[in-house]
Amino acid sequence: METLQASGYSAHLVGGCVRDSLMGRRPCDWDICTSALPQQVMDAFPGRKVLPTGIRHGTVTLVEEGGPLEITTLRRDGDYLNHRHPRTVEFTPSLEEDLARRDFTVNAMAYAPYEGVTDPFGGREDLKAGVLRCVGNSLQRFDEDALRILRLFRFASQLSFEPEPQTLAAAAQLAPLLQEVSGERISAELNKLLLGENVFRALCLAADHGVLEAIIPEMAPCIGFDQHKTHHIHPVDRHLFAAVAAAPPRLEIRLALLLHDIGKPRVFQLDEKGGGHCPDHAAVSADYAGVMLRRLRYPKNLAGRVTQLVSRHIVKLPADKAALRRLCAQMGTGAVGDLIAVRRADNLAKAPSRAFKWDAVATMLDEIIAAGDPLRIEDLAVGGQDLLELGVPGGPIIGEMLGSLLELVVEHPEANRRETLLQEAQRLQNSGAAGNP
Ligand code: ATP
Ligand code: MG
Repeated sequence: METLQASGYSAHLVGGCVRDSLMGRRPCDWDICTSALPQQVMDAFPGRKVLPTGIRHGTVTLVEEGGPLEITTLRRDGDYLNHRHPRTVEFTPSLEEDLARRDFTVNAMAYAPYEGVTDPFGGREDLKAGVLRCVGNSLQRFDEDALRILRLFRFASQLSFEPEPQTLAAAAQLAPLLQEVSGERISAELNKLLLGENVFRALCLAADHGVLEAIIPEMAPCIGFDQHKTHHIHPVDRHLFAAVAAAPPRLEIRLALLLHDIGKPRVFQLDEKGGGHCPDHAAVSADYAGVMLRRLRYPKNLAGRVTQLVSRHIVKLPADKAALRRLCAQMGTGAVGDLIAVRRADNLAKAPSRAFKWDAVATMLDEIIAAGDPLRIEDLAVGGQDLLELGVPGGPIIGEMLGSLLELVVEHPEANRRETLLQEAQRLQNSGAAGNP
């Protein structure tokens, strides 16, 4: 900032970092706005690494030792197009004009040393009251860029703030416009919402104001859906939200919990005693989850892990360590750890007394990992070459035999010794029953 000022330009910290600092939180990044044009910013830092990351919008990134710094030329947005993008971006020397285009009052403050905080829209007051309020007319601001509707709930979750009533009403009225926003922009905000501290409240508000179903139409039938189950204290949507909130803040786990019962209304049946049943709901929910994750452009491998967690979320509690090791050999220890976290949160959200069982399973998994129990072919004390030397013919039979040996050591880890496994291989070879001991 001193460098820019010394070259005759204004320079202010702006947006999230000012808000977080005033809240006593550590900002995750520091954004600077300046009256210098992008080329002038680059010229002000000769010999330094300045990347033209968003030059059309006036943003360059100065690569600093403490991390990258985004420096953006002060701008005012022109008319908006398709409820998504400003049609034109005009640079302006006015800090106030730049702050006026920002979404919420608490995000529309700037700071510079010797000048203090610039706060033309009452951001500090709203911050103190914990209120989210649009800068200017909320209907107009949401109509300009519908993503701001979702950002309202994202900040409600992250900051534990409440939307001010008119802002909330405008969000509800214009929620359907979110259907026109790209999947990438939606998922980026949804991810932050899901990882926020106040996620239960934010999801309830989003569901009750038509915002959640605008971004996930598959969610609509879940809202208020009574499960007719004695051990479920919540309708489907509230159960999903409580499960998300009960889970550790990891994206794939929280996404899986948001979606784990989403197919329930589709398969719901009532028995003659008035009890509810949802046959195959895990598989149907996993299908819905796959569709939703693709539509919102989630990376393929993340989507795969999430749908796997959804489809497996009703697996039985492993009865003992050997059963747990079998599951680890099938899925990998990382995925089993995630699955335990999902099951635990799922139970906490319906009947908290059941969660402890999964704590015991988590402890067992830790023990398996700490002991380094063999769970993959690579962990075996013998390899294909050893079997060839025993006289086993090459080809697929080697793989089958290694598979049989793995089954043995998954059941009995102490058997994972070269001597023992060679003897066992010999026995398999003699009985001609590789792959089916
Ligand atoms: P975080 O700490 O999560 O990064 P942030 O407030 O910095 O929070 P960003 O999405 O990084 O959020 O946006 C930076 C700033 O840019 C916001 O504080 C806000 O002033 C402005 N902003 C971002 N997106 C919009 C938008 N769609 N409409 C208006 N202003 C926006
Ligand atoms: Mg930011």
